[in-house]
Amino acid sequence: MVDQNFLLLNNIMKWKLIGNDMDNYLKYRGKCRELCDALIKENPDLILVRGWYYEPLWSREEQHWWCKDKEGNIHDPSHLQFPSCGVSEFYREFKGLFNCSNCDKEVKEEDIGSAEGRYVFCSHKCHGKFIGVL
Ligand SMILES: [Zn+2]
Repeated sequence: MVDQNFLLLNNIMKWKLIGNDMDNYLKYRGKCRELCDALIKENPDLILVRGWYYEPLWSREEQHWWCKDKEGNIHDPSHLQFPSCGVSEFYREFKGLFNCSNCDKEVKEEDIGSAEGRYVFCSHKCHGKFIGVL
């Protein structure tokens, strides 16, 4: 079994060797959807996935698109935008549910009452409470 930390470190080292950090970032940043569409065109068996990628070097999740095959293996054409180069454990698929930023209730995308930036609310009442006007 490969040690996860070792794998991660190895990926980050490789990423630094491939090119300038900023080059990789700018080359792939914001192109994840576009590159996925191109990959699916080449290989129609792949499924488009939307979700988040947790980048340990930045300690945060990024909104992201990638592909998976029927076995669930990840094929991420823009994985080089992340220093960890796409470690499968850090992908989190969007399952169609959000949590209300005020009351934590689970809401489906089509039932979202209102949204502001990365905050979503089940209702306008919750939104109002959250920003302190109710
Ligand atoms: Zn709510």
